[in-house]
Amino acid sequence: THDVHIIGGGLAGSEAAWQLAQRGAKVRISEMRGGGDMTPAHQTDGLAELVCSNSFRSDDDERNAVGLLHHELRRLDSIIMAAGEDARVPAGSAMAVDRDAFSANVERILMEHPNVTVVRERVDALPESGLTIVATGPLTAASLAESIVAATGQDRLAFFDAIAPIVHRESIDMDICWFQSRWDKGDGKDYINCPMTKDQYLAFHQGLLDGDKTEFKEWESNTPYFEGCMPIEVMASRGVDTLRFGPMKPVGLDNPRDTTPEFPQGRWPHAVVQLRQDNKLGTLWNMVGFQTKLKHGAQVELFRTIPGLENAEFARLGGLHRNTFLNSPLVLDRQMRLKSAPHIRFAGQITGCEGYVESATVGLLTGLMAAADLADRPWEAPPATSAMGALLSHITGDAEAETYQPMNVNFGLFPPLHDVKKKQRKEAYTNRAKDDFGKWLSRMELAPA
Ligand code: FAD
Repeated sequence: THDVHIIGGGLAGSEAAWQLAQRGAKVRISEMRGGGDMTPAHQTDGLAELVCSNSFRSDDDERNAVGLLHHELRRLDSIIMAAGEDARVPAGSAMAVDRDAFSANVERILMEHPNVTVVRERVDALPESGLTIVATGPLTAASLAESIVAATGQDRLAFFDAIAPIVHRESIDMDICWFQSRWDKGDGKDYINCPMTKDQYLAFHQGLLDGDKTEFKEWESNTPYFEGCMPIEVMASRGVDTLRFGPMKPVGLDNPRDTTPEFPQGRWPHAVVQLRQDNKLGTLWNMVGFQTKLKHGAQVELFRTIPGLENAEFARLGGLHRNTFLNSPLVLDRQMRLKSAPHIRFAGQITGCEGYVESATVGLLTGLMAAADLADRPWEAPPATSAMGALLSHITGDAEAETYQPMNVNFGLFPPLHDVKKKQRKEAYTNRAKDDFGKWLSRMELAPA
């Protein structure tokens, strides 16, 4: 006897349950920890356990995208933000929490809520009927993952993220780089190319071999590893020219700044780093084939030696982790419903957002969507200019499906404000977001009393 079945009592599931329960819906949370199961990263049975860092990152809602997300979550009375506030520890301008107190707060509030039932059980198959929210996270139990694959198709659920660094377009030096696709295929200008001389390439290759790397955790190295997401430094270690025959291949790419009478279009450089558009807005570009286990500091240092990327600003750095996530732009509709089984919504990290706060946000939004279904009220997505709206648009269709990888919230997901000076831009984004978000709250009658 529940209105909505939530599978997974992590950050997303807890937030979805709270939003629904507060709107009068009866929810059942199925959480496998405490019922004889564990994930490889969790340590306790607590709801909303933070598996790694104890930080919700920046709390600055004037110049930072995740801080803005905090602001929007608070305006919607988020349980994650309230429980976090009660467990807060000093961390400068960041918001950090005592993880045990935080998880205990979330668990107590939900257990005491008359509309919430928490059952310690593992769910092994997607329910055939009934409003459902699947929020089982990056370490979804294997049996359920199989059931999801059966519903979405083999290549729609990934078990690893293989993240190549993503660069803000405006930080790329187009006096050095140029637009061209190899052999002018497609519309001829799909890629941004960074040229390298032989000396630059050799130094870069050595940098990949020497750079500090993070190791796989034991449980990660037990998961099958695909050739398609080979880290760039592993490829580099196979031979000095392996990359020149792989992702750094220069053939068919004419550097227009290196012309001679013989090569009026420009010559091919010794090696090329290519970037491909990562979102529909064209504000984010990923470095093709550059998934890596280099430490973040080493990535920034080395990748800024690439001609044209000297001042690159990274929307996210590369990585390779165990991470179960859907190709959401393909399999979910704009309301986070599985296209092939619309009674099922997905929420949290499994949808391809990244981070505690982002996961909670997607949980909150799916909770509101399900509440709208139950009340038979129309749903309108938060504006794309808000942090919630930008993240939701990305997941549900604006990201490129072919290269879809988990993403933190960042200003590159927002519709750009080109005519604002760079120094004022972050504040302009947050001001616009707060205005538009406030209007949306009133239109949807979601503003807390
Ligand atoms: P979770 O919080 O993992 O919740 C999912 C829940 O579902 C779990 O409680 C699990 O026990 C349960 N479950 C799984 N399968 C089933 C099933 N079949 N039946 C019933 N219950 C099930 N983000 C950050 O912001 N900072 C970090 O430092 C950080 N570190 C991370 C470290 C690791 C190792 C991993 C894997 C992720 C990390 N993340 C981090 C990313 C992400 O923010 C967290 O994973 C976050 O917990 C995701 O929230 P969620 O609600 O989607 O999933």
